[in-house]
Amino acid sequence: MDFLNKVGESLTSFGNGMSARTKNMMDQSNLNNQLRQHENTLKGLYEKIGRQYYEEKQGKGEGEYAEIFEQVAGVEAITDELRKKIEIAKSMVPCPKCGGLTESNSRFCKNCGNPMQPAGNTEDTAEQQSSGDMQS
Ligand SMILES: [Zn+2]
Repeated sequence: MDFLNKVGESLTSFGNGMSARTKNMMDQSNLNNQLRQHENTLKGLYEKIGRQYYEEKQGKGEGEYAEIFEQVAGVEAITDELRKKIEIAKSMVPCPKCGGLTESNSRFCKNCGNPMQPAGNTEDTAEQQSSGDMQS
């Protein structure tokens, strides 16, 4: 029991003894966190305004908005393209022979022509590329 009391004492004295500098740093980081949260909220609200306006105008910006609307359409096209590419990349599997990526539903590696079989085949790389590509 004596031991527990001592632990309690040392904990409170630690709290009280926290230097002003440490406390100030903790306050700062707390304030920074709050600031960041509110900045993010603000960002979200501005975004909402922009999105609503864009949708209201159905992508047809007038006057000074014309250019920025064009930029939005351009970037949206890029993000669509990237999403498609990511989907394709996700469906790619490495060739067991050359390591090149091929669509998972392909029967042969489009890089080296090796049959794309699920792992577990007994013979490994018995057949080396022996044919002379570098003929003079
Ligand atoms: Zn291959």
